[in-house]
Amino acid sequence: MFQSFNRYKRITNGTVVPFDKNTYNPFPAMQRKPQGARSRDGISINRRRLMRDLNAIGRIGIGDRGAVTRLVFSIKELRSRQVLIHLMRQAGLNIRIDAIGNIFGRFEGTDPRAPAVLAGSHLDTVIHGGKYDGPVGVIGALEAVRTISENKIPVRSSLEVVCFVGEESSRFGFSTLGSSLAAGEVHAKDLTNAVDPQGTKLENVLAALGITRRNMKSIQRDPKSLKAYLELHIEQGPILEAIGKRIGLVTSIAAPSRFRVIFIGRADHSGTTPMNMRKDALVASAQLIEYIEKICRKYASMEKGRVVGTVGAMKIEPGVINAVPGRAELAVDIRGTSARSKNQVARIVKHQARAIAKQRGINVKLQTIREEDPVPLDKRLLRVSQELCDDKGIDYEIMPSGAGHDAMQMAKITPAGMIFVPSKRGISHNPLEWTDPRDIALGAQLLMETMIRVANEKL
Ligand SMILES: [Zn+2]
Repeated sequence: MFQSFNRYKRITNGTVVPFDKNTYNPFPAMQRKPQGARSRDGISINRRRLMRDLNAIGRIGIGDRGAVTRLVFSIKELRSRQVLIHLMRQAGLNIRIDAIGNIFGRFEGTDPRAPAVLAGSHLDTVIHGGKYDGPVGVIGALEAVRTISENKIPVRSSLEVVCFVGEESSRFGFSTLGSSLAAGEVHAKDLTNAVDPQGTKLENVLAALGITRRNMKSIQRDPKSLKAYLELHIEQGPILEAIGKRIGLVTSIAAPSRFRVIFIGRADHSGTTPMNMRKDALVASAQLIEYIEKICRKYASMEKGRVVGTVGAMKIEPGVINAVPGRAELAVDIRGTSARSKNQVARIVKHQARAIAKQRGINVKLQTIREEDPVPLDKRLLRVSQELCDDKGIDYEIMPSGAGHDAMQMAKITPAGMIFVPSKRGISHNPLEWTDPRDIALGAQLLMETMIRVANEKL
């Protein structure tokens, strides 16, 4: 009852004032401070505005059951970028868009020659994804800079809000496209095999934007123009929720070793071939899959590099109920936060695949898909956020990221840091992806305060 009353009226100092949707703020703690406030303490981001803009982006490409689909270079994704440009313009930022479409919204610091502090993430999504993976980092950074600007908080370095194009690999099988180009990390040959399910080649899309093999490098952002890159992101895993903490400070980003294991046995009649005369490729695979689980559990601890291993795809031939499987192809993905343990586990798994094949008298072939090394993030940036959390009594967890992010590309040209906020039940890349708005606001607040310190202090 009280609640419904409260929707129309609010009570201030004992007097009832009529509800005015323009001034009503359901979160008094996040109320905008008077303009001109100079103290850093007590300056709060505007949670209502933050959630309003996040939801505005989240409605673009929304479909059944709240699933959001904004594949890179689709109309929906372009529309989300237009909305961002509009919001940046409203906030008075200077906008620059590079050849691939990465958007930089700049707020000038007191020393225009000082390298800039960059913060952002991406707006593209997977197919049937959620509304927070990516936008939380972009709109969170925008809200941080808007708050700094309207409160006239002095910052020495300029601040830039960035939206990177095509972080997700869902369309072309190529992840962190915009940030890789900004970091100068894309090689023309990496793009040759990137094709979407409709047969559109990524190379051709880039050519239409005027990006050729020859001028690709010109998208690279001059490392000297950057002081740091910060990214707020949802955790996309269950750890923070499980331990009841609201902030994660990221030490490093795990990277995968991906390879294919192909067992080649012999396809036989399932009725006439005795058990002791079979060359069953699928039973060999089953053995290997179980072994991968076992070995990764041994390397699961933080000290051992948090290794995880998955066989996420498999092809069986002939794949019929009345034939012994003659060929089985497994796609193996092994990740870890330490290159050493990840590579070690990958080696052990390959060795085991050969041993299983030998023991069963069948053949095995191994094919590398992708080899990447984990990326350590900047310890000094982590310490800045950590000190801010300690000062404010915010409970945080220092943790690695199991998923890839734009930060891992930016880390190659500038110190990079990441802040995580909890994901409900660890779900992401799914319409059920959800983070409590209070946690999103806390993350944006911490991002803002980290940006102010990094912009004003020596790293
Ligand atoms: Zn993301």
